Amino acid sequence: MEQLPTYDDVVRAHERIAPHAHRTPVLTSRLTDAELGLSLFFKCENLQRMGAFKFRGAFNALSRFDAEQRRAGVVAFSSGNHAQAVALAASLLGIPATIVMPHDAPAAKLAATQGYGASVVPYDRYTEDREEIGAALAEERGLTLIPPYDHPHVMAGQGTAAKELFEETGPLDALFVPLGGGGLLSGTLLSAGALSPSCEVYGVEPEAGDDGRRSLRAGRIVHIDTPATIADGAQTQHLGAHTFPVIRDRVTDIVTASDAQLVSCMRLFASRMKLVVEPTGCLGLAGAAALAERYRGRRVGVIVSGGNVDVPRFAELVG
Ligand SMILES: *Cc1c(COP(=O)(O)O)cnc(C)c1O
Repeated sequence: MEQLPTYDDVVRAHERIAPHAHRTPVLTSRLTDAELGLSLFFKCENLQRMGAFKFRGAFNALSRFDAEQRRAGVVAFSSGNHAQAVALAASLLGIPATIVMPHDAPAAKLAATQGYGASVVPYDRYTEDREEIGAALAEERGLTLIPPYDHPHVMAGQGTAAKELFEETGPLDALFVPLGGGGLLSGTLLSAGALSPSCEVYGVEPEAGDDGRRSLRAGRIVHIDTPATIADGAQTQHLGAHTFPVIRDRVTDIVTASDAQLVSCMRLFASRMKLVVEPTGCLGLAGAAALAERYRGRRVGVIVSGGNVDVPRFAELVG
C-alpha cells in the first residue's frame, strides 16, 4: 500500500488545484443559526466546478501523472460526481479520459461527462462488474485507474476544501462532513488536525448505510450491500484501505441521517440560503442539526459537498 497522505500533501495539493478550482464561499445564515442555536459556517462545494468537491481530488491525482501516464490516459468507473470530476480534470490537463458508466445512467450525467470530452464505456450494472471492466481497460490500454476515494492523492485533494474553510473561519468547535467511502472525511481530518486541532470532526452517513459507524466500532472495515437511500453520492459499500486508518485514528465519531432529515435540509438550504444542494450534500447539516444541543452557542462548520441533482428530481423531493 502506498503511504498515507499527511497535511503536507494537502498543502501541496492546494498549490496544484488553486489555479483551476473555485475557492468556494463560506456562507452563514442568521435564521438557521437561530433555529439550531449554533453559529454555523457552510463551505459551499455545491458551487465548486462540476458541482462537487470531487474536482479537487481528481485534479490533484491527475496532475501527479508522469509523461507516460498522461499520454496513455486515465480510466475511472462511476455513475456520479467522480466521473464528471475526472472528465473535467482530464480535459483541463490534456489527458484522454475513459469513464465506465452504467448504460442506464441519467442522460444528464452521460451528457455532462461526454461534454467534458471523455469517452464513455457503457456496462450493464445487473450483469457486469464495473471494477473488472475498469481494471481490464487499464491493463489492455495502459490507462491509469483513479478510484473515487481510496487513493492518497484523491484524499489529499479532498482535504483542500477544509483547509480553505479553516483559513477563513479560524478554529472551529466542531465540523460535520458527508461520508461515503471516506475520501472527503480523511482529507478533512488532515486539515483539521493541522489548522484546528481541538475541533471535533464528525462523519455523517446515510442511516440505511451505516458501514462507516460499524467499522469504527468494530475496528475493521465492515462491508454492506448497496444501501437504499436518496443520498446517491454515499451509496458506498465500505470504507477504503487508505481512508479507514486515517478516519479510525482521528475522527470524533460517525453519525447517521435519515432520508427524511436530508429532505428537510434540502428545503432549508433552498428556502433560507437560496442554495440547490443534492441529498448527499445535506448530510453535514443533518448531522449538525442532530447534535445541535451538544454544541449550543458554539462555532460549527458544515461541508456542503455537492449540488448535482436534476431540477425535476429536486422539485419532487422538496415539493
Ligand atoms: C462522493 C460524494 C460524497 C462522499 O465522499 P467520499 O469521499 O466517498 O466519502 C459526498 N457528497 C457528495 C456530493 C459526493 O459526490
